[in-house]
Amino acid sequence: MPPVENKIILPKSELPTTWYNVLPDLPEPMGPYMTPGGQPVSPSDLAGIFPQALIDQEVSTERIHSIPEPVLEALSIWRPTPLVRARRLEQALGVSSRIYYKDESVSPSGSHKSNTAMAQAFFNRQAGITRLTTETGAGQWGTALAIAAKQFGITARVYMVKVSLEQKPYRKVIMNLMGAEVLPSPSQETQAGRRALEENPKALGTLGLAISEAVEEAASRPDTNYVLGSVLNHVILHQTVIGQEVKKQLALAGEKPDFLIACHGGGSNFGGLVSPYVKDILSGQKIRAIAVEPESCPSLTAGEFRYDAGDSAGFTPLMPMYTLGTSFQPPAIHAGGLRYHGSSPIVSALLKSKVIEAAAVSAADCFKFAQMLAWSEYVIPAPESSHALALTCLKALELESAGKPGCLVFTLSGHGLLDLAAYQAHQD
Ligand SMILES: *Cc1c(COP(=O)(O)O)cnc(C)c1O
Repeated sequence: MPPVENKIILPKSELPTTWYNVLPDLPEPMGPYMTPGGQPVSPSDLAGIFPQALIDQEVSTERIHSIPEPVLEALSIWRPTPLVRARRLEQALGVSSRIYYKDESVSPSGSHKSNTAMAQAFFNRQAGITRLTTETGAGQWGTALAIAAKQFGITARVYMVKVSLEQKPYRKVIMNLMGAEVLPSPSQETQAGRRALEENPKALGTLGLAISEAVEEAASRPDTNYVLGSVLNHVILHQTVIGQEVKKQLALAGEKPDFLIACHGGGSNFGGLVSPYVKDILSGQKIRAIAVEPESCPSLTAGEFRYDAGDSAGFTPLMPMYTLGTSFQPPAIHAGGLRYHGSSPIVSALLKSKVIEAAAVSAADCFKFAQMLAWSEYVIPAPESSHALALTCLKALELESAGKPGCLVFTLSGHGLLDLAAYQAHQD
């Protein structure tokens, strides 16, 4: 192949200066969050653990939100991120479709989580908060938060799902290096953790339980707030820099997407990619937006749409979403970021009204196509991202057999360089 540009890179001046709120675009309004007693949650109910600015974003009906200057400055450390044409992957697959990936792995944490971590740390600091608690599954969110806490001068404590801590010890090293404290969940620090350990001293932990621990602690301390790396509306809002940049980059490449594909754990990288396109889809543009999950944790493809809590102890409000139920114990798959019983209310609403689709892929396909990406593009995807990659490859092959090549875009939500245990497990 002659040398040919494969990266579409936007100058710093093209960094989005606003976030795009998709809530006003939903075909049916989202039901309010509810208390376990069946009352709508009032914004003030959330004030014990979230700053007002984030509560306002959670329920906002405004489409456009300005990104504050200090957040823009933090985002500009690594944004805009490249959109990469994966020509060598196309060749390896033998397809004539164009495959692009949005490379969110170039952030300080190695994943898209830094986009919202910086914003959440800023708004908490602005509200006078000096300490944050959170949970982390695979460790990417904890890493992103630890870095963002450093950026804005906040102390962070991270409850990390025990099985992930054992699989990925180096994430803890990074978080500690950044000055954050990391505890395995279930822990002895909270009632929710102690109860889980009494029931099963060998509990592997779940994201739902780690959330309970972090929320319980934040609710009991006035200097401490809680931050969540996915699921909530304000998190998806912060991730819309992804989709806005993709739109500009595809325009530069003279492309319109036929497929927008992202993996789905709590819905933030998918929601961030797709939110700016929802109006286009509703106005008739033929774009298939597909959220991809593991067959072993199929909240969107096999879950039920109903009100459910975001955590296992039921401390969070009840939210309308596709869920497998809070007691669902996902197997210890390596894509820790996708081991979540529920989904985001925004993605759930989009799926329910058929604006988007959902699909589940097998672990075998994820590994197969991750290896193909490594051999062709020399990129090792995060196990989570390999779900988006696998579906993209399967769709490109399908389009090829149908003789209808197209333009497929997926989010490389993170790199897999700290997930080598997942790859090792396939080699042994
Ligand atoms: C957390 C994470 C995910 C899943 O979370 P979403 O909110 O669904 O995006 C996917 N990929 C990576 C790399 C992650 O860190």
